[in-house]
Amino acid sequence: MRNNTSDAIIIGGGIIGTATGYYLTKKGLKVRLLEKNYLTAGSTGRCIGGIRQQFSTESSIKVAMESMKKFATMNDELDQDVEFHQGGYLFLAHSEEKKETYRKLIEIQQKMGLAVEYIGTGEIEKLVPGINTEDMLGGAYCPSDAQANPFLIVDGYAKEIRKRCDVLPHKEVTEIKVDKGRVTSVITKDNGTFHAPIVVNAAGPFAKEIAQMVNLDLPIYPERHEAMITEQLERFFDMMIVDYRPDGCYFNQKWDKGSIIGCYTPIPNVPGQDLGTSFEFAKEMGRRMARLIPRLNNIKIIRQWSGSYEMTPDGNPILDKSDVGGFWVVGGMCGHGFMLGPEIGWLAAEYITEGKPPYNIDEFALNRDFKGKEVMK
Ligand SMILES: Cc1cc2nc3c(=O)[nH]c(=O)nc-3n(C[C@H](O)[C@H](O)[C@H](O)COP(=O)(O)OP(=O)(O)OC[C@H]3O[C@@H](n4cnc5c(N)ncnc54)[C@H](O)[C@@H]3O)c2cc1C
Repeated sequence: MRNNTSDAIIIGGGIIGTATGYYLTKKGLKVRLLEKNYLTAGSTGRCIGGIRQQFSTESSIKVAMESMKKFATMNDELDQDVEFHQGGYLFLAHSEEKKETYRKLIEIQQKMGLAVEYIGTGEIEKLVPGINTEDMLGGAYCPSDAQANPFLIVDGYAKEIRKRCDVLPHKEVTEIKVDKGRVTSVITKDNGTFHAPIVVNAAGPFAKEIAQMVNLDLPIYPERHEAMITEQLERFFDMMIVDYRPDGCYFNQKWDKGSIIGCYTPIPNVPGQDLGTSFEFAKEMGRRMARLIPRLNNIKIIRQWSGSYEMTPDGNPILDKSDVGGFWVVGGMCGHGFMLGPEIGWLAAEYITEGKPPYNIDEFALNRDFKGKEVMK
């Protein structure tokens, strides 16, 4: 694009910003995406690439299932291999309470057409050779859940956007101008001015700071999550294993090289933007994985890092326009932004261009009461 005016400006070069930009471009809009660092510098480049459809509310399940369809056709859509592989997700139950929760949720999920079932420990032992089933009662298993490579997907979306529009890394937005209640332009740290009647806040863990630029207070708070990857090893299981005990963890084996990639949710949570790492995590993650699969006892962790979950009070995303004309919020993905990203990007583009969402997403409204809770966090 030659001049500094476009139909829409997107702030943030993660999965949400690039997916939204991709679909807005497909709808014929001139889009300019501004990223303060490099693409994937935020949470997207720090995630572990899991994609699941097992959620607890109809809206989340629907969005996740639609997103899965988009992942499944992405190699063709983006004309590059995004390392998509449907190896499943297995949520383990180590208590009667968990088992009951899964069973109830499976009913809702099955009603929505998702092929998911509760399986016993015998079946689990066949799926994960050598797994320790002590105290385990079974698990919720959805074989069509998946994994993919976030870097390749963001790269693919960005390449498509660049065919007609702009993707500008190292452009930090520092100010958003509003005139008569409508956004008009954004200013970047290097004194650039870019005009557009639509500004999409897709700044992930920084969504709150961006919203403050138009005097909007967003209930989105970053929480630090640490992650690690191991040396390569021969593949022996196919799915993301989620151990939901308070001192559990979740991990899968990467489709390409067999490395194990995983995380756990810290208790208590770690609020704030600090992206440091801890020896405690490396030690604990090793212990937790080896407790579940003893043969992982001597495996080497080759890298650890951290990133942010962008939390909302009820665990659901925000996808909505705001009271400031032309200012949209697509954020607060609560640690599910990669898996939901393709559908969220499509929904955002449809809502922005058509004036209403293509199906009911009231659960993602900006002015909801935030009293509900997504159980499958
Ligand atoms: C350890 C870990 C594991 C995870 N695993 C999974 C998983 O398996 N599956 C899953 O679905 N999700 C997972 N997630 C969550 C997922 O990574 C996020 O929900 C998702 O990446 C959010 O995408 P986003 O585009 O909203 O944010 P981001 O990827 O953070 O993108 C926002 C971008 O905005 C940019 N930005 C910020 N401020 C400005 C500014 N002023 N001007 C310009 N640009 C700005 C940032 O630099 C950043 O690149 C994980 C997260 C972590 C931390």
